[in-house]
Amino acid sequence: MEESEIRKALMEKALKELLKIAAKHNRKLNVKLIAKAFAFAKASHRGQKRLSGKPYFSHPLEAAKIVASLGLDAETISAALLHDVIEDADADRSEIEREFGKQVYFLVDGVTKLGVISNRTREQRSIANLQKIILASVKDIRILVVKLADKLHNMRTLKYLPKEKRQRIAAEVLSVHAPLAHKLGMHAMKDELEELAYDELSPKEHSWLSKEIRIRTKKKELEVDKAINSLKKAFAKQHLKARFGKYYKNCYTINKKLRKQSKGLDEIYDFVIIKIIVRSIPECYRALGVVHNTFLPLPKKMKDYIAIPQTNFYQAIHTSVIGPNGTPIKVYIATREMNNLTERGIAAGWHLRDKKLQDILRQNVSKLNKIANIEDVGRLREFGNAFKTDFLQKTIFVFTPSGETRELPAGSTPIDFAFNISARLGEHCLRAKANGKSVPLWKRLESGDIVEIIPSAKCTASRLWLSFAKSEHAKKAIADALKSKKSRKDENQKAVFAKIKICAIDRIGLFSDIAKCFSANKINIVGVQSGTSGSKAIGIFSVQLTTPDKLENSLSRIKAIGEITDVKVLK
Ligand code: MN
Repeated sequence: MEESEIRKALMEKALKELLKIAAKHNRKLNVKLIAKAFAFAKASHRGQKRLSGKPYFSHPLEAAKIVASLGLDAETISAALLHDVIEDADADRSEIEREFGKQVYFLVDGVTKLGVISNRTREQRSIANLQKIILASVKDIRILVVKLADKLHNMRTLKYLPKEKRQRIAAEVLSVHAPLAHKLGMHAMKDELEELAYDELSPKEHSWLSKEIRIRTKKKELEVDKAINSLKKAFAKQHLKARFGKYYKNCYTINKKLRKQSKGLDEIYDFVIIKIIVRSIPECYRALGVVHNTFLPLPKKMKDYIAIPQTNFYQAIHTSVIGPNGTPIKVYIATREMNNLTERGIAAGWHLRDKKLQDILRQNVSKLNKIANIEDVGRLREFGNAFKTDFLQKTIFVFTPSGETRELPAGSTPIDFAFNISARLGEHCLRAKANGKSVPLWKRLESGDIVEIIPSAKCTASRLWLSFAKSEHAKKAIADALKSKKSRKDENQKAVFAKIKICAIDRIGLFSDIAKCFSANKINIVGVQSGTSGSKAIGIFSVQLTTPDKLENSLSRIKAIGEITDVKVLK
């Protein structure tokens, strides 16, 4: 690429803006690399437009700004600028590698692959996409940050897409991307993704709820501000330096809480949360003491996520106190680094100086990598649990032993799974295994479970299954199977019993030889009457036939036994 092109790019206002955001977090930024990516992406997308009518390049540019604001390095910002050039502009892969180096190419390639996956059919997509995203994060977690930035900008500009597509994307964001951002500790990203998706899926509810929350927040804020003033004085008295802030929960989180705990809006008090930022971990505990000394703490509300950090890197002390107006106020206490990590999550790790925190982060990344290991199935379920808590998540995704995904309603059991595969497998379902372990047929499956059905030809549908099958499909299939079973049974009772009189010259073992002829044709002997006179033996066999034509076969075999003198089918 020509130097002049890079210089020209550096004159552009849009690039200057991007660099300004990046410089906030990164002093030693590779400006030239970003400028080159800027020029390359702009040229690649020349002439392309988004559905909004804006030049296509505005999209990667905004994604790059999100990545920059998270404090990521020049390589990741460049990758964000370039993230669609292969997929949407047919750029030459080798040229990207030559111009921007292996690292940047690797990131762009990673995001590109995910893009292709997300274009699969709807059914295949969700868990396969999730799998791929997790796998990509194992290779280089920055791929995921670019992907989430891409998604966030798409969500911000969602309104230009057709409705059906919008809803599908929003649902996917709630079940995949937001929980993933959460898992990476990127809370600001998670909050915004959720809010945008929630607004898309339930616009009426969202606007009603956000209005209600705004009113309550305003009221609550008066008390919170009063409490902050008192705390400031108390902290000054103790010579404890601290920064006081406020955190607002998003509507989606509050709605989830309302539903999960079936609470009313009036029972919720944490619309506004006091955030206290101090300089060190010992100061966090000192701060907690001051808070509890100033306001009466609510019992059992204190949570120490510093001593016991959460798997998503989250660290802080939570407590609730009785505020100056007599209502509860929630308080978060954290160090600046922890707060940084809370806002930017894993992305904050790229420039952190604090070695200890870097170590924690590194440990956490390796923990995440372990979770991401697809072969390690037990861990994958942990990941699935993050999605399970989503109230909108109405389906789970489980795997067949060969790795195929199956979408089932949440609460499904191995029976649902078996009927989802085929009616035959469902009907003859004998036992089930989840993740290699035997589970009862009524066990509730979870996302990520690998389910295996052990069938038996002898086994048939049971009425009991109807009491725990979840999917409509399985319920109907069980009912059908029961019906045909009953009609088969009726047939059995009518026609398929027979009595056969056999005369023979008695000898030891004759009886069992005759029995073998029946059993070889799957004919059950249900009763025998026998008698001997001298060397003659007479037996009357009551048998149950599976199919009438088998009888002929067994009778001719019986006749072939040397000692048999007569065989007769009695009416
Ligand atoms: Mn994109």
